[in-house]
Amino acid sequence: MPPTAPELARAFASGVVAPNIGSWEQRGRFPRAEVAGSGLTGLFSPADDGGLDLSFPDAVAVFEELGRGDAALAFSLSMHNAVASAITRAGTDQIRERWAGPLVSGAALGCFSLTEPQAGSDATAISTLATQDPDGGWHLTGTKAWVSLGGEADVYAVVAKTSTEPGHADIAMFVVDGAHAGVSHSDPYDKAASRFLPITTMQLRDVPARVLVEPGQGMRAALAAIDVARFDIAAISGGLHAEALDVAIRYATRRTTFGRPLIEHQGVAFALADVATELEAARALTLRAAELLGTDQGPVAVAHAKRYGPDAALRAAITCSEVLGAYGWLNDYPLARFIALAKMLQVVDGTAEIQRMVIARDLARRGRAEDRPA
Ligand SMILES: Cc1cc2nc3c(=O)[nH]c(=O)nc-3n(C[C@H](O)[C@H](O)[C@H](O)COP(=O)(O)OP(=O)(O)OC[C@H]3O[C@@H](n4cnc5c(N)ncnc54)[C@H](O)[C@@H]3O)c2cc1C
Repeated sequence: MPPTAPELARAFASGVVAPNIGSWEQRGRFPRAEVAGSGLTGLFSPADDGGLDLSFPDAVAVFEELGRGDAALAFSLSMHNAVASAITRAGTDQIRERWAGPLVSGAALGCFSLTEPQAGSDATAISTLATQDPDGGWHLTGTKAWVSLGGEADVYAVVAKTSTEPGHADIAMFVVDGAHAGVSHSDPYDKAASRFLPITTMQLRDVPARVLVEPGQGMRAALAAIDVARFDIAAISGGLHAEALDVAIRYATRRTTFGRPLIEHQGVAFALADVATELEAARALTLRAAELLGTDQGPVAVAHAKRYGPDAALRAAITCSEVLGAYGWLNDYPLARFIALAKMLQVVDGTAEIQRMVIARDLARRGRAEDRPA
């Protein structure tokens, strides 16, 4: 029997990522060949295209396993799979012909590009402009920021406006070939961690582009893609959280102070008990989000999971690092790296405040509905 997707992810995280992440970090090298060989580049794409066609509940274990290895690499796989899924499922024949096979096999990498220097949390403030030629073709001009896999990805799903009118009624999503001469990138950002993952500012100068999502549907499609990405991040946070706890339990049962193993000191044991409770809670929220994704209740369920998971993972990484005392600071253990990664997970694909906005809007809607006469 071929390995299941979670088995592939476990083998990749423990056999490839964990032993090599230090050297990828030092050399600032994205592990392109390793990612292509992982078998995890077509997670949500149809089987007819060579994908694994995973359901969201099935994907929880996959992203948890990846989060145990390295959350930034897991994030890059989440983004690539979002693009591969959109192109294989919604691309025109021309787009599919060019990109479906290479994306699913991992020969090509995909990037999702929405954020701009002036438009982060408020995605409706984007200004990258798509103009249509008389023959119907499109060209993109603008500046995108925080382009993960910038310069490394082969194909970019770019969200852009199709008019200079304010608002988002005209927004569309386009497919851009990263090799075109009109695409250029800044030097990679100098980040607190994850040097191996290039993140750039991308300039688009009159670049030919193909429509993936028609004008008017672009913001809705982008938000739907972001909901899946937020769910991935919640599951990745769960993996980071679980691995931090495992490292701390292992250490606390072996390290002795004042004549007994650390875990027999109630102060340490209770701290780890709280980490374990929060892991159970985070997993429950992620599983619920997986079940509701694609329904009306999906966005709020995902917001709960994305709000709680990274916050809990950050608390877990800090507590577990403290259990290791001075050793928590060493790169022999992943905990110092995990603290930086959990901070990143709080921000990517919408900050904790943006998740609170989604949840609060739903609460207000509920309140107003109660006031309406039956
Ligand atoms: C590692 C990494 C990789 C990324 N990769 C990509 C990528 O590949 N593609 C892409 O498109 N984007 C990417 N992003 C961008 C990311 O989605 C944005 O950084 C994020 O949406 C937040 O935008 P901002 O940083 O501009 O913060 P801002 O929007 O400037 O917000 C600053 C702070 O104010 C808070 N805030 C803002 N508005 C409100 C409000 N109304 N109420 C309360 N608080 C508020 C925010 O929560 C935040 O804490 C990446 C980011 C990171 C960190």
